[in-house]
Amino acid sequence: MTKANRSGEPLGFSSLAIHAGQEPDPLTGAVVPPIYQVSTYKQDGVGGLRGGYEYSRSANPTRTALEECLAAIEAGRRGLAFASGLAAEDCLLRSVCAPGDHVVIPSDAYGGTFRLFGKVYQRWGVEWTAVDLADLAAVRAAVRPGKTRAIWVETPSNPLLGVSDIAALAGIAREAGALLVVDNTFATPYLQQPLTLGADVVVHSTTKYIGGHSDVVGGALVVADPELGERLAFHQNAMGAVAGPFDAWLTLRGIKTLSVRMDRHCANAEAVARMLEAHPKVSEVYYPGLESHPGHEIAAKQMRGFGGMVSFRHAEGENAAVEVCGRTRLFILGESLGGVESLIEHPGRMTHASAAGSPLEVPADLVRLSVGIEEIDDLLADLGRALG
Ligand code: PLP
Repeated sequence: MTKANRSGEPLGFSSLAIHAGQEPDPLTGAVVPPIYQVSTYKQDGVGGLRGGYEYSRSANPTRTALEECLAAIEAGRRGLAFASGLAAEDCLLRSVCAPGDHVVIPSDAYGGTFRLFGKVYQRWGVEWTAVDLADLAAVRAAVRPGKTRAIWVETPSNPLLGVSDIAALAGIAREAGALLVVDNTFATPYLQQPLTLGADVVVHSTTKYIGGHSDVVGGALVVADPELGERLAFHQNAMGAVAGPFDAWLTLRGIKTLSVRMDRHCANAEAVARMLEAHPKVSEVYYPGLESHPGHEIAAKQMRGFGGMVSFRHAEGENAAVEVCGRTRLFILGESLGGVESLIEHPGRMTHASAAGSPLEVPADLVRLSVGIEEIDDLLADLGRALG
């Protein structure tokens, strides 16, 4: 699909989200790409592939539509869709790291990412250092010349909503000859486009805001450099954790409404954060949109909105935090995030339990909210009631 309008100007985000990679079906005119629920393709004579399709692990037209759309909305050159966010991370790391290599990771990385480094790659000789990425001097000090292959960034981070300066970290990575990898799951490409700020690779759990409806698990990688894209595509096929056709179709459908959903997520989350900030039972609120957040200025510079995730600490400690999670009605007690419905969870005992006893352990009195797109008055009333 053309990426420009009739005046030759590049299409805006929402137009790309709805159209990129998706021509109406040439046979029927169907405006939505069909679900190509197929494993193999008839060849016109040996090696005579139609459109390059031979076997659906290597490529499938529904997945291709999603991959092209992901590349367009992240302002990248190549997108790749996987069975989950962790499958995408695994493909990237096994493509660029070898035993003896080293990666700098955030000191508040998503628990599953940390588990991958701490419990899987460590056994294969890939070393890591966890650093507060807001401290650029500490990042520089953690880089091991000739050994550090990547600086891994999550901004905003999960679950403490830490903000790091993507452009500054890209400069450090470039000097070190390392890749700057940004997990853009929390921000989404609508709010932040890391490749335009100098990052080399964007990672997504598309399970979250990109899919947006809590009905599909998936992951993605997007890169600016076509050569790196080829290397990742080779590993994607060689390792095989691809997105299936129906999952790709659901994810593509989610992307079409990403911008309108994110506007509402941002507005609702800001209202929730301000209400919590004024609540006597809340000792600290983590939301990059609050002027009191230490990363507020950087977030305002590199994001067009502050996202739908809010975390807070209960002033009365761990048990009180756990009880609040059990008392909400509209906020559903559950893991994951980024769907239209609001979710509440206790990271210390749920999503981040695997980080216990490590440098990435989260405060025991922390509660994480994925603020959905319901009526804001209903959300505020639900939280107010649960806090008592
Ligand atoms: N990155 C972040 C920031 C996440 O929150 C998650 C999952 O919660 C992942 C990666 C992993 O994605 P998935 O659960 O789709 O494997």
